[in-house]
Amino acid sequence: MATFSVRFLGCKVSHTDAQELRERLLDDGHLERPGAADVAVVNTCCVTNEAIRKSRQAASRAARTHRRVYVTGCGANLSGEAFAGLPGNVTVVPGPSEQAASVVAGDVGAIACVQAEHRLDRVRAFLKVQDGCSFGCSFCVIPLVRGASRSRPLAAVLREARRRVEQGHRELVLTGINLGCYRDREERVDLAGLVRAVADTPGLARLRISSIEVNHLTGELVRVLRATPLVCRHLHVPLQSGDDGVLRAMRRRYDSATFLRRVEPLGDFNLTTDVIVGFPAEDDRAFERTLAVVDLAGVTKIHVFPYSPRPGTGTAASDPVPPAVKKERSARLRELSRQRCLARWCDKIGREDLVLVDRPGRGYGDDYSPWLVRGEVGTLVRARGRAVTEEGILAA
Ligand code: SF4
Repeated sequence: MATFSVRFLGCKVSHTDAQELRERLLDDGHLERPGAADVAVVNTCCVTNEAIRKSRQAASRAARTHRRVYVTGCGANLSGEAFAGLPGNVTVVPGPSEQAASVVAGDVGAIACVQAEHRLDRVRAFLKVQDGCSFGCSFCVIPLVRGASRSRPLAAVLREARRRVEQGHRELVLTGINLGCYRDREERVDLAGLVRAVADTPGLARLRISSIEVNHLTGELVRVLRATPLVCRHLHVPLQSGDDGVLRAMRRRYDSATFLRRVEPLGDFNLTTDVIVGFPAEDDRAFERTLAVVDLAGVTKIHVFPYSPRPGTGTAASDPVPPAVKKERSARLRELSRQRCLARWCDKIGREDLVLVDRPGRGYGDDYSPWLVRGEVGTLVRARGRAVTEEGILAA
């Protein structure tokens, strides 16, 4: 038996991959142990230079406190020297995400006849239903490190949904790299059908979808999201830029008018987004247009990514916007995001919301607004907004 720890960097898909690695090692009879242990797995992210730097740092730290370290995930598939020069006990595991758990578990070795216990570590479970992307945006390394789009069969998704709910998870989040590409061709099910099917999981309290490209936000999908009672009123729709010239240079397949038209029927949904600042084609006026579109779309939370060129992508050789300009634009967008979140939260003062308590003293409303509430972890509590702090809505 080996003791192990698994950590991830990056997005919800990285989280689900790390979860799979963790469960595989538990299934094989190994013992999870935070801090120093025999084996560490670091599931890495390479979406920006900063993400790679943090991933490398995590692997390097783990190498000091663990006998063996496995570097998996997007960063492990990045061409170049991202993890070169790390200590000899670090093994980089490239390859499709579907194979990482088997490769690591095979190397660590299994213990026979052990009945593993899967401790519930979160109220919310992320359910990967799709991986990879075939879109090829000019800045994005994901298609290179994760491969083309592919989907899990409906039956496998529904089995895992039942298992997660039986483990005690109250909320499921359907997750993928490009979720709107989800298809089970044999069952003729797309994302809208999948949402309907997963929402029928007995015992499930809430269902979210993690992130969707605006091109996939069809009338049919919006109808299903609105009509399915367990589906939460929150959507994350990456904008990346509000300037049509920049969107074209990014090869994003939509313009700002299309973005606004497609999100408009979401109405009361809490809309959050990603924006890249300092993309090569972004001048001051282009950035101002991004601010305007964010405002018109009614976005609250903005995840801001200062542009950094990724190896192997269409814009790998281009990074003309000075770091100070990126920093200033990032700060302006983050401030706008802060104000818009506070405004949405202030609207809840004096109103009731149903909050899923996911940590002691904290939880999320249906629209993913954060609440500071009392209640047992894992329960849904009725909360009335009393005041707003920088951390969320204070319940009466
Ligand atoms: S849609 Fe574009 S940004 Fe998103 S993963 Fe695919 S290539 Fe990358």
